[in-house]
Amino acid sequence: MRVLLLGGTTEASALARLLVDDARFEVSLSLAGRTSSPRAQPLPTRVGGFGGTDGLADWIERECIEAVIDATHPYAARISANAVAACARCAIPLGSLLRPPWRASPGDRWIEVASAEAAATALGDHPQRVFLALGRLEIVAFAAAPQHDYLARMIERPDGVTLPPRFRLRLDRGPFAADDELRLLTEERIDVVVSKNSGGEASYGKIAAARRLKLPVLMIARPAKPAGIGLVSPEAARDWLEALAAHRETSRSPRGV
Ligand code: NAP
Repeated sequence: MRVLLLGGTTEASALARLLVDDARFEVSLSLAGRTSSPRAQPLPTRVGGFGGTDGLADWIERECIEAVIDATHPYAARISANAVAACARCAIPLGSLLRPPWRASPGDRWIEVASAEAAATALGDHPQRVFLALGRLEIVAFAAAPQHDYLARMIERPDGVTLPPRFRLRLDRGPFAADDELRLLTEERIDVVVSKNSGGEASYGKIAAARRLKLPVLMIARPAKPAGIGLVSPEAARDWLEALAAHRETSRSPRGV
C-alpha cells in the first residue's frame, strides 16, 4: 500500500520507524524544508511544498498514493487544509495525527494570546527581558516592540527577516530538559517567555521551568487545523493503516464483495 506521510514532527519520525520494515507499506515522507539539515529519516524523503492543493492532489495521483497521514506540526494549518482538500478530491483516506496541547497546571502563569503579533503587544511598554521559543515565521512580529531585550532559540539562523534591534540568538535543537531551561532562564534573567502550545515532551521543559520561577508565559493560541480521521499516537496511525491494508486485501480477494 502506497502511503504519503506529511511529517516534520517527532510523531512523524516515530511513525516512520514503525513502518520502515513493514513490507505491506511503501511510505514516502514529506518535509516542508524549514531546516536545511533535518534529522536523518529511515524512509525515502521528499522536501519542499507541493504547490497548494492542486500540486498535492497531482502528486498523490502521480505516485499512486492510497492513503495519507498528516503528522505535521499543530501550528502548520495550511498543509493540513491542503491535505483535507486533496484527499477528498482524490477519494483516498486521510488520517491526522495531532499532538494534544499542554494544559495549564497549578502555578502556571499563562497569558493566552491569539498570535505572535498579539504577544508582541502584550509585552507592554516597559522594557523586559524576553525568551522567544518560536520559529523564524513568528519572530518578525517582535520587530514592532523594539523596547525589549530578546533571546531567541532556533535550529538555524533566521536569514532574510527583520529582527528587533536588541536580539540575541541561541542555535540549538531540542529536546530541552527542564533543569537546563531553568538554568538558561535564570542566567539570562528572563522576565517573560513567549511560546507556542506545541504539546509533547521535547519542548515542555521551558514551561515547567517558567512555573518553577513563577514567570509569565505568553502562550500563542493554536490555529484551527483541518483534519481527517483523528489518530492519537504513531501506534494508532500504524493500526489504522494496517486496517486499511487488510480491508484492501479482503476487497481484492475473489471472495471479497
Ligand atoms: P504551513 O503554514 O501549514 O505550510 C505552509 C506551506 O509549506 C504549505 O502550504 C506547503 O506548501 C508547505 N508544507 C508544509 N508542511 C509540508 C510538508 N510536510 N511537506 C511538504 N510541504 C509542506 O506550515 P509551516 O509553514 O511549515 O509552519 C507553520 C507554523 O508551524 C509555524 O508556526 C511553524 O513555526 C510551525 N511549525 C513548527 C514546527 C516545529 O516546531 N517542529 C514544524 C513545522 C511547523 P505547498 O502549499 O506549496 O504544498
